[in-house]
Amino acid sequence: MEKKKIIVVGGGAAGFFCAIQIAELHPHWEISILEKTNKLLSKVKVSGGGRCNVTHACPDIEMLLQKYPRGTRFLKKAFYQFATQNTIEWFKNNSVELHTEKDGRMFPTTNSSDTIIDCFLRKVHQYKIQVLTQHEVLDVQNNNWSTDITEGNENKENKVQKNFSIQLQGREPIQADAICLATGGMLKSDRLKWLTNFGHTIVDPVPSLFTFNTVDKKITTLMGVAVDRASIQWRGNKNFEVGPLLITHWGISGPAAIKLSAWCAREMAATNYEGAIQINWTSNFNESTLKMEWINFRMDFGKREMGSKNPFELPQRLWHFLLGEAGIALNTKWADLKSTNQQVLIQLLTRTTLDIKGKTTFKEEFVTCGGVDLKDIDAQTMESKLVPGLHFAGEMMDVDGITGGFNFQHAWTSGWLAAQHMAGQ
Ligand SMILES: Cc1cc2nc3c(=O)[nH]c(=O)nc-3n(C[C@H](O)[C@H](O)[C@H](O)COP(=O)(O)OP(=O)(O)OC[C@H]3O[C@@H](n4cnc5c(N)ncnc54)[C@H](O)[C@@H]3O)c2cc1C
Repeated sequence: MEKKKIIVVGGGAAGFFCAIQIAELHPHWEISILEKTNKLLSKVKVSGGGRCNVTHACPDIEMLLQKYPRGTRFLKKAFYQFATQNTIEWFKNNSVELHTEKDGRMFPTTNSSDTIIDCFLRKVHQYKIQVLTQHEVLDVQNNNWSTDITEGNENKENKVQKNFSIQLQGREPIQADAICLATGGMLKSDRLKWLTNFGHTIVDPVPSLFTFNTVDKKITTLMGVAVDRASIQWRGNKNFEVGPLLITHWGISGPAAIKLSAWCAREMAATNYEGAIQINWTSNFNESTLKMEWINFRMDFGKREMGSKNPFELPQRLWHFLLGEAGIALNTKWADLKSTNQQVLIQLLTRTTLDIKGKTTFKEEFVTCGGVDLKDIDAQTMESKLVPGLHFAGEMMDVDGITGGFNFQHAWTSGWLAAQHMAGQ
């Protein structure tokens, strides 16, 4: 096969993985990564609190697909070719062992993102992949479409050597046979005019994976209180999440809240992050099942003071707060609880409603909901359906996952598929 020149735009997770995969198949091809900043793999570095949550221990593809609020159908074809098991094996074959935490998240055993970065830099060095920082791509032209407009040659196709011309900020253009765009999230369509000129559409980008700012600050007096298993729902939306919740000085955080923000990212953006969340602190009961169970509580704990007997294993500070909100003194005996207070307490336990105004992305795994519309991308090859030879990888596409290693998994999968196609596999 003739030696080809491949350009990968973006020195992040998807771009590096893609470039390395092509080089593994064609070590002698000319492969370059163009990165606009002077930093490489900067998100990998800070990811997972500096530990890099590489993927998730989820070998079942159908279950894996459920972790992506956007892109599920598209990813189905992709994951059947390269998914979590392939990621684990690839890193293992490249001397990076991963370990699994209780919740399924997988990290390098060193618990340092530098292990992943070092691995990629080693591979790039091994295959002599050219990595060019401060190379910002401004425009991409498809040379096969260009026409020679010199006198007498109007409308005659100008056969140039390479398929693409890549225009750079303050530098000479570069030519390439094939190209993979892996420029990450929060795409602004005005900066990608050339992509929209090709006919691609950009689904409006909005943030995903954030925490909620509560209007009523009373709850925030419980700052630092964590509940292992609660359920949380955005009022008016069918999606809910069950898992750990954390009360912070600005509102509600924790894995279940952050995951919920992914499922409702677009709806919440549409309301400018104003609305309400409903929390069921017990998660195992709903209002009517808890009412039934309450009869047993009264019988079992009748003589106990409510402040000291909390049947839900809730943190004491939260339990006392809820009793206070229901107008129940801590020394009230279970048997003496008035039915009106009981009704309020059951409602608070199963449906605490908190008004929300605004979001916080402090230190969270912020990702973009939106990006290049999937309708014009081939899910098996990541190639544009509009421009042959143009490929996409990573967060720049309209795919995003909840927290837990799913966003990197998408970066590896799409980078791998784009590489296979460009390598002619
Ligand atoms: C704080 C934080 C922690 C995270 N932790 C995790 C985690 O533990 N696990 C997980 O699965 N996900 C995590 N994520 C999400 C994950 O980091 C991203 O989904 C992933 O990095 C996307 O990879 P990417 O290569 O598509 O984009 P990026 O990593 O954003 O890389 C894109 C690169 O392209 C460059 N670029 C942009 N435009 C141009 C241009 N015109 N020309 C040249 N270069 C350009 C950018 O400078 C950037 O370096 C985290 C995100 C954040 C913000």
